[in-house]
Parts: sequence; C-alpha cells; structure tokens
Amino acid sequence: MPILEKITQPLQARHWTDSIPLEFHYTAGVAGESFRRELKENGRFLSSKCAECKTTYIPARMFCPSCFIEMKETRTLEEPGYIYSYTTVNRNRTGEPNGPLTIGLIRFEGVKGGIVHKLDVKEHGSVSFGMKVVPILKEASERTGALTDILAFRPA
Ligand SMILES: [Zn+2]
Repeated sequence: MPILEKITQPLQARHWTDSIPLEFHYTAGVAGESFRRELKENGRFLSSKCAECKTTYIPARMFCPSCFIEMKETRTLEEPGYIYSYTTVNRNRTGEPNGPLTIGLIRFEGVKGGIVHKLDVKEHGSVSFGMKVVPILKEASERTGALTDILAFRPA
C-alpha cells in the first residue's frame, strides 16, 4: 500500500518486520583525540588547563565548562593518581558470577575529572581512599589510543 494512500479502516493497515542497517562512527573530538594520541604514543595522560579560572581537567577537553572559553594549554600528568572511590564487583556486565574485581575512580591532585578503571590489588581490603596509584599500560606497540591501553592501576 503506497504511503500516500489514506487508510479509512484500521484493519487495512499492515505491518512487517525487517531491519535497517545503521552504522555509527564516534569521534573523540579534537581534545579527546589529543588525549588518546598521548596515551598511545607516550603512555601519559593529557590534561587541559583553563587560562581564565586556572582549572585543569582530565581527560583533556577543548572548552572550559565554567568559563565557556577554549582551553589551549595542555600538560601531561607525571604524578601518580589517587583512589577517590572504589568498589568490588563479583559479577560481569551480563550478570554472570565473575571476579572479584575492584574498580576505582582515579583522580589527580588539583585536577578535575578522573578515570574509572580496574585496580590491580591482590586483596579487596588492601585498597584505601587516597591511596596513590599508577597505571599499568600495554606495550607501546599494542596500544591503540583507547582506555583499554591501560590494563589496570596499581599501588604506586
Ligand atoms: Zn575556566
């Protein structure tokens, strides 16, 4: 039935199932690309600093969300991060028993934002808030510029 044809009786309407192939491409953006490239090529985290309010953000971003101005100053974080928050899970994403796996929000002193990642700790009880951690990275030849280039964070 052509779409312009007016249906006068609801029972005239028919339906069928099919699929429409869709493809998505996600770009990390200008600053996100710089962050990923620095991680891939040098194994470091890139942050950006606002010239107006002096706030530093990780991962690097192009605009300051407070001042709405472009941030052109970047710096790599050389210091270890610290555990801002953490939890231990015993199931994977589909709900199957798995683990235990400890996941933490890693932040850096004086920097807004952070990185959520696995913590390489032997025992759940050995983790504490504020604990200094450093990333364990894949070999440079295996890195792709994704957060999976980080295998986990371990105590510094
Ligand atoms: Zn700002």
